[in-house]
Parts: sequence; C-alpha cells; structure tokens
Amino acid sequence: MHRISNRLGWVATRTPDETEQALYAVVHRRWWPVINLYLVTWGQNVCRPVYPLCGECVLFDLCPKIGVTRVGAPQRERVGVGPHEQ
Ligand code: SF4
Repeated sequence: MHRISNRLGWVATRTPDETEQALYAVVHRRWWPVINLYLVTWGQNVCRPVYPLCGECVLFDLCPKIGVTRVGAPQRERVGVGPHEQ
C-alpha cells in the first residue's frame, strides 16, 4: 500500500504507518480490506518494488510515477515471446 499509494501520488508519506493512516482517513471502512487486497496484489504483479511494469500498467496515463526511475521490460521480452515466436 505504501509504495503504490506514493507512486500514484495519493499520499506523500515516509512510512507504511503514515500511509495506512492517511488512506484510512479518506476511505470508508468497508473498502479497507478491498483496497489492501488490490494494492498488495497490484504490487506483487505490476507495480513491483523494483522495475515496476509501467509499460503494461492500465494506470500508465494517469499515474505520475513518483519516485520511479527504472521500469521493467514488457512481458514478451521477459519470457522471450515476441512476434517471431508466435
Ligand atoms: S504506472 Fe507504474 S508506478 Fe504507476 S501504478 Fe502503474 S506500475 Fe505503478
């Protein structure tokens, strides 16, 4: 939650605890489990700690990518599947 929320510009916090409190202050309690699940899943698969997959992210045009300096290679480059292998 901390990393993605800051990359998206939802918060500008320094610690996970600060992020959690900032998000919980503006999001209705009923959505807390959903937000946590989505952000954790997103962080494991797309907005990874190192080399996030910004080029494949549906939020690419909306996200300011705060603090992102290097991004990961697109899926087809990582697994060696390109137009010649299909
Ligand atoms: S565009 Fe990049 S930094 Fe922004 S949410 Fe997507 S993967 Fe994360």
